[in-house]
Formats: sequence, C-alpha cells, structure tokens
Amino acid sequence: MLQGTAYLKGTVRFLRLCANIALGFILVLLALSVKNPALPKSLAYGFVRETAKKEVEFRTRNWNSLKSEQFLIKYQDQDLDNVNLVLETINMDFQKVNEILNFTNNAKIPIIVYPDSLSLGKSFGWDSDQSAMGVYWAGVIRIVSPGEWLGDLAQGDAKEVFRKKGPMVHEYAHLVVDYRTRGNYTRWFTEGIAQLVEKEITGFQFENTALNTDRAEWYDLKDMDRDFDSLPSQSLAYSQSLVMIQWLVDEYGYDDLNAILNHLGAGKTLNQAFQIVIGKTLNQFMEACKNSY
Ligand SMILES: [Zn+2]
Repeated sequence: MLQGTAYLKGTVRFLRLCANIALGFILVLLALSVKNPALPKSLAYGFVRETAKKEVEFRTRNWNSLKSEQFLIKYQDQDLDNVNLVLETINMDFQKVNEILNFTNNAKIPIIVYPDSLSLGKSFGWDSDQSAMGVYWAGVIRIVSPGEWLGDLAQGDAKEVFRKKGPMVHEYAHLVVDYRTRGNYTRWFTEGIAQLVEKEITGFQFENTALNTDRAEWYDLKDMDRDFDSLPSQSLAYSQSLVMIQWLVDEYGYDDLNAILNHLGAGKTLNQAFQIVIGKTLNQFMEACKNSY
C-alpha cells in the first residue's frame, strides 16, 4: 500500500514535471513567434513532411530502386532503360542548385518515376486531364518517365533534351526552397526561384508572357499566393513569378535572395524578410519591379 502511494506520488510529480516542461516550451515558442510568426507552423511542417515522405516510400516499397549517395530513385519494370538517364541528369546539376541556393543535404532524396502522367496524377488523386512532367511535394520529387514523352532515348540528343526540357532541375530547386525555408514560402516565390535556377543552369525558359503584358494586367501578389493554379493565364502567373525573382537577383544579388531564404527558415513572413533584407515591403518591391521594365 505504502509502495503504491509512493508510486502514485512519483507519477504525479513526473506528470507535473512534464506539464511544466510543455508549458515552458509553449511559452518560449509563443515568445519567439511574436517576432517570427511562421515559426510554429514551420516546426509542425517538418514533421508533416517527413511523415508524408515515409508514406510515399512505403507505398512504393515493392518498386525497383536505384541508389546514389544523394538520391533514391524508385521505378517500375517498364522504366528499367530510363532510370539511368534520370540519375545521370540530376547528378549533373544538383550541386549547382545547392551552390546557388546555399544548400547542403544529408538525407537521401526520393525520386519516384511514374510510367505515365496518368499514374503520376493518380498518386495525387488528380483528374486524368491534369498533366505535369514533374511535381515536388513534401520532400519527394515525382516525375513522369522520360520514356513517356521523350520518344527514342537511343537518339543522340535525347539526353540534352531531357536535361533542358525535363523537370529535374526545376523540381529539385523547389525541394531546396522547401528545406531552406522549412516550408515557409509562397507559391509565386518558389515558382520564380525554380524557373530562375533552371534558366541559369539549363538555359530553359518558358515564353516571356509578363514582359509582353501591360503591367496593369499583372496579377496581385495576394491572388498569386492564394489561387496560383486557378489564375486564368497560367503563362502570365509563371512568367510574372520569374520576372520578379529575376529582378530581385539582378538588383540585389543571390546573397540577398539567400538572406531572404534564411529569414523565412527562421519563421519571418515573406513581407518581413523582404523588409529586413532589401528594405522594401512586398508591395513596394512589386511596384519597383513593375516600373523597371
Ligand atoms: Zn514549379
């Protein structure tokens, strides 16, 4: 009986200690989040991303795999002949992306090769008419097999075409932005960076719609943040994202872009990060960018 009471007292003391630690943690987090509003969300996001990553790895556990030091490529039997091209292509360029965006990675990055766009879409529950060559989401790069859209890979220029028009550098850059900012970024911001990095490394660029469009027609940043995928002109949304990040880098350099990524990683809002690093709010930045072209 006495033993039972001592045990009970010990348990109560332990629970009280846990509650105090939890309370202390919450208070520290609250204090930090006054200055870094996105910090609590970022901390939770890290957990969500790793869980989602594990889930995809589990779902493709019976697929074939090809490993390198940095990547784990999952593919199905029909892509046996294509998977080396995927690995060679990403190996050729990922270090350049890391250098541009000050990133070092320790964990292996999963790349899932889907045999066609339908199966890639299905993995997200998309309708069959939504197609993309590649998608980055939650720590995982998913691509449609190059065999699906590139045709005869034995042709000499297939490698160069896949490197330039394929999704590898673009999706990898999205992954780097996600890790550098701990998930704390807006859609136009990451689309602008991914396109600029892609342009720097492979020379690929979509049509320059934004510069051929009246500046009054440009989308508001709020609309680009909330409804990027449903904006009527996807071409303008992507192009405007690139033009704005290109202007930022031309005016302030990659060092300032990286400083903005650091502040986002520490939980600042995009508006705060811009103000701290370049001394302009997002709206002032957008006006200055519009007036410069
Ligand atoms: Zn993108």
